[in-house]
Amino acid sequence: PSVLKDGSKLNPDYIPERLPHREDKLKELTIAFRDIVNDPGKSSVRVVITGRTGTGKTVTARIFGKAFAEQVKNRGIKVEYAHVNCHRERTLYLITLKIAEQLKLSIPPRGLSSQEVFKIIHEYLERRNMYVIITLDEFDYFLNSSPPEDIYFIVRLYDELAVNVKRVSYIFIIRDLTTLSSLDKTVRDHIARDIIEFPPYKSNELYDILQDRVKIAFYDGTVSDDAVRFISDINGFDKGGSGNARLSIETLELAGRIADAEGSPIVTVEHAKKANSRLNEEASIILDELNYLELHPMLLVKALINLSKREKKESFPIGEVEDEYSRLCELLGVEPRRHTQVFEYMRRLKLMGIINTQQSGKGMRGRTTLLSLTFPASQELDDYVTKLIGALKN
Ligand code: ADP
Repeated sequence: PSVLKDGSKLNPDYIPERLPHREDKLKELTIAFRDIVNDPGKSSVRVVITGRTGTGKTVTARIFGKAFAEQVKNRGIKVEYAHVNCHRERTLYLITLKIAEQLKLSIPPRGLSSQEVFKIIHEYLERRNMYVIITLDEFDYFLNSSPPEDIYFIVRLYDELAVNVKRVSYIFIIRDLTTLSSLDKTVRDHIARDIIEFPPYKSNELYDILQDRVKIAFYDGTVSDDAVRFISDINGFDKGGSGNARLSIETLELAGRIADAEGSPIVTVEHAKKANSRLNEEASIILDELNYLELHPMLLVKALINLSKREKKESFPIGEVEDEYSRLCELLGVEPRRHTQVFEYMRRLKLMGIINTQQSGKGMRGRTTLLSLTFPASQELDDYVTKLIGALKN
């Protein structure tokens, strides 16, 4: 028997029905997009949502987009919502394809440039007299890794398309606003018109968010109030925590699994404490190990983090990891190490307990070594590794 009634409700991709403590942000978004209602086609709205990891940026944008489309439908205005993660779709071309896919538009598989795809999208909207709100999530990645002309194209769309009715509006989700300071002023002005900040959650706010999840994910009365209080307090920004709702929900889930493993019919504060220290301990051991790495092994770790986040898989053929590693080297302007040296780094990373290796099964053609991280590729970890790489490069 399990305390969990429906674990999928604790999944990071699950979209809850309510968003406690983000109602005001939903309102701010509605106000920012009022031009689409009042004078459709007159302007291309741009809003930046910024805030730390786990402050509800993604989920709020998604819920807003759906609700807004629904709301304007009653007034006879057709709005579609598209949400693209720029870390997963890492080029302008992949981003435009993803937008087309979400509009259920089929694009010929080869031969078109991103600009041409965008033109097809625009003509499609024109034909149906439709508008689209595009959220570019983790836009920091796009800004940091794209050629200036691609950034220019996407944000100055209407200088390029030369059309009168503006049908495309954007929500840019940017974790770190300082990314914007490296941009050209004209480009920056096209992005940062309206900035909505998502503060880290306070303890009481996390408590409400967690209680909502307890109700839908656990059986009645199986989670003690103390357990929820403990998780909220330890993560609450006003109590010295990170204010991260994702981490709080993850802790709640692990507490549930620990209660199950111990055969307890109820999740107690002790289970919550164990879950919390387990998550912290894992994180701190890994962070500690990473501090000792040199630049190139660190880049290999970063390559694995990128692949795990992008493809939502656990393990990757060594060749794929090397390709991603070479790409990172190119971005940083450093010479990639040769294969034999890379192999030696992998061996050391394995000895340090940072990566696992295994041989691919018989099903795959040829035998290859598969690599995986021994820890989840969390946003915090990604940030930490990125920071270490920055420091090592100089
Ligand atoms: P961010 O994009 O800022 O990193 P997310 O939107 O991915 O954060 O939120 C992280 C997790 O926390 C998701 O599972 C999300 O559903 C949940 N969450 C965040 N804010 C709220 C809220 N106000 N109410 C309910 N769930 C929330």
